[in-house]
Amino acid sequence: MKDIKKNASVIISASWIFTAGPEDQLLSDYAVVIENDKVIDLLPQNKVFDEYEANNNYQLTDHILIPGLINTHTHAAMSLFKGFADDLSLQDWLNNHIWPAEKEFVNSSFVKDGSILALSEMIKSGVTTFNDMYFFPEATAEAVKELGVRSNIGLVVLDFPTNYATDPEDYLVKGFEFRDKWRNEELITTSIAPHAPYSVSNEAFTLINTYSEELNINIHTHLHETQWEIDQSIDKYGITPVQRLNNLGIIGPSLMAAHCVYLNDQDMDILAKNKVSIAHNPSSNMKLGSGIADVAKMLKQNLTVSLGTDSSASNNRLDIMGEMRLAALLIKGTTKSPELIPAKEAIKMATINGAKTLGLDSTIGSIEKNKKADLVAIDLSAIENQPLYNPISTLVYSSSRTDVSYVWIDGKIKLKDKKLVNIDEERIIQMAKKWQRKLKKI
Ligand SMILES: [Zn+2]
Repeated sequence: MKDIKKNASVIISASWIFTAGPEDQLLSDYAVVIENDKVIDLLPQNKVFDEYEANNNYQLTDHILIPGLINTHTHAAMSLFKGFADDLSLQDWLNNHIWPAEKEFVNSSFVKDGSILALSEMIKSGVTTFNDMYFFPEATAEAVKELGVRSNIGLVVLDFPTNYATDPEDYLVKGFEFRDKWRNEELITTSIAPHAPYSVSNEAFTLINTYSEELNINIHTHLHETQWEIDQSIDKYGITPVQRLNNLGIIGPSLMAAHCVYLNDQDMDILAKNKVSIAHNPSSNMKLGSGIADVAKMLKQNLTVSLGTDSSASNNRLDIMGEMRLAALLIKGTTKSPELIPAKEAIKMATINGAKTLGLDSTIGSIEKNKKADLVAIDLSAIENQPLYNPISTLVYSSSRTDVSYVWIDGKIKLKDKKLVNIDEERIIQMAKKWQRKLKKI
């Protein structure tokens, strides 16, 4: 009598699988078995078909399968400002270019189209989850639903009026209305996103802290991005932004702090003691001339450090593989310690550390049984990836996002043989060109 095999939705066999799980396993000639939205098994290729049968089977020779990449700091819709204002300092860039352009052009259709452009680029780059902060979150959520990318959407708060809201209370009311409406959406979680210490008052931070505690919701903010920000805070409040936010109760395990380029010893101790998660954005920090975060010190203090791109207006790529390589190289160059952030750790920063930052590490961030099937396959067969002694090193130091060939999110295939599934790529290109003409750039 024939053995009865268990049904599965998808079986992916790959030459290598890096799990990023607790044992950091690099498995050769293994297969991942998916049922609906979850990974249900991991076993050798020569055994998988004895136990399971699936309608969809992928045999990915010369590919490494890793957990989906997590981008922990984005403003997705700003992809429509890619190349709009380059080679400027953060304050010049914000005050004289980005904020005036946002005033003129940003509405819900800008946010939806910009987010669709960003999500398309992120899927093609192997990103399966992004941590966003922008206006009109409902439009971002519509793009998320259309493309099926996992997201943590920030409910932005600013002191000053924008096209979206008038004052901190209005931002919060609108944010919570959005949160209530979309709370049952599988791919969406939310955080409160005060923009930055220099653009949000003590009163607003106090209100945000109360809501964060009452609703058990994370806080996502820019923090210590530039020297200007520190100087301005010391002038106005007599203390650094970290110290000020600590006094206001904002510094705690629910805080996701983007950048943290300038931290003195006291600031670093406050963040470490309070288990704050840091989104390291090396490309954006370098492009805006903000500086280079002291990640070596953060790691020494056991802080959770993940990777972000920031927006396409200050990067100009939503390329976490690129950030992985840059983070691994920068720490070696700045500390003269080539053993810091080895390739394996760089992948973990972009996967499991991102999941920890978002508080989602029980469901995403590693390839393990019962976790969500958010997976990326990278083709290492090209000339630039040969010879291939160690697939983890090849992935971080030789390959690039153009080698990403398959992506699954929540068990559904989103990129197949380097092409977006069920999305007309030409339509997205034309939509971006339409906005380019509107924003009057050549
Ligand atoms: Zn940012």
